[in-house]
Amino acid sequence: MKSPKRPAIFMDRDGTLSHEVGYVNHASRFRLYPWAVDAVRHVNRAGWLAVVATNQAGVARGYYPELVVNEVTACLNEAMKAGGAHLDAVYVCMHHPSAGAPPYRRDCDCRKPRPGMLRRAEAELGADLPRSWVIGDRHSDLQLAWSVGARGALVKSGYGLGELTYLAPGWGRPPDLVAGNLLEAVERILGREAP
Ligand SMILES: [Mg+2]
Ligand SMILES: [Zn+2]
Repeated sequence: MKSPKRPAIFMDRDGTLSHEVGYVNHASRFRLYPWAVDAVRHVNRAGWLAVVATNQAGVARGYYPELVVNEVTACLNEAMKAGGAHLDAVYVCMHHPSAGAPPYRRDCDCRKPRPGMLRRAEAELGADLPRSWVIGDRHSDLQLAWSVGARGALVKSGYGLGELTYLAPGWGRPPDLVAGNLLEAVERILGREAP
C-alpha cells in the first residue's frame, strides 16, 4: 500500500520568506521577499507540503504580544492566497527557556533547533520527515533538519551570507544545499528530487 505521507518543505520565516528586520514587533514591519509567493506555489504544485516553522521568542521576552504574531501569519496567508499559493501550516514557537513569564517561559520542545514543530507536521499533516527539507538562514535551521533525519538548505538572504562566510567553516557538517534565496532553494530541491 502506498504511504499517504508526503514530503514537506519547512521554511523559516524571518530572513527566508521575509526580510530579516530584527524583531517584527508590529505587523507593519513584516515584508515578504518578492520571490516568496512563487517559491511556495512551486512547492504546492509539486505536491509537497509547504510549512512555516518560526521561533518568535520576542513574545516570551515581552517585546510584543502574541496578537502581532497572529497578524503577521494572517498577512502571510493573505499574500499567498492572492498569488495562488498556500501554506499547509504556520507553526510558531513563542517560548523561551529562561526569559519572561509563564506560559511563554517554558523549556519547550518546539524552539528550533528542537524538532517539536516538525514532529507536529508529521502528526497533523502526515509529513514524511526523512524525505523533507528545512530551508533557513541560520545554522539552527539546519540543525533542526538534521535532528529528524531531514536535509537542510541554507539561503544567503537574511543572516545566511554571514553565517556561511564566517561560521560555516566551523560547523561539523556543511549545509546539504546552499542557495541564493528561497526560490532558488526550492527549485533545486524539487528538481533534484523529481522522479
Ligand atoms: Mg531566520
Ligand atoms: Zn516552543
